[in-house]
Amino acid sequence: MCMNLRRFCSCGRNSAYLSCRDNLLPAEILVNLFCPECRPGSIRDDAMLQDCGWVLEYDVDRAQAYFTGRGIRSQATPVFIFDAGYLSWQGLAPGDQEVNTRLHQRLAPLIEQDLALYLKSLRSEWVAHVTRLKAAGWRKAQAT
Ligand SMILES: [Zn+2]
Repeated sequence: MCMNLRRFCSCGRNSAYLSCRDNLLPAEILVNLFCPECRPGSIRDDAMLQDCGWVLEYDVDRAQAYFTGRGIRSQATPVFIFDAGYLSWQGLAPGDQEVNTRLHQRLAPLIEQDLALYLKSLRSEWVAHVTRLKAAGWRKAQAT
């Protein structure tokens, strides 16, 4: 089970789709989300994580309380919260959900014409997308 939500950044010009593993952390644990246009000049590593210009700021103390309450022994650092998927991008990057939707829409006409080609195209285009994310340095893409 995974609760997915869309969140606008501080300046409101961009948004990201987020997912919360096991619904363990409430969305407000992410106290601030900054896009590359509104990111702060200095990054506090104890509360923030950067990913390709985006910055996620967490309430690590509250996150720690949730982890302790659920018997998760790891320390609630921004890196752990993000990498373990407790409050992280849905997919591999902030816009993945939209990319995926657009890709399905674009290829949809193929479903009736040639289902095998549809599935093959879907797969190869997604693989190419992930390769681009990886090359751009997105954190979750590095692990794929
Ligand atoms: Zn912004």
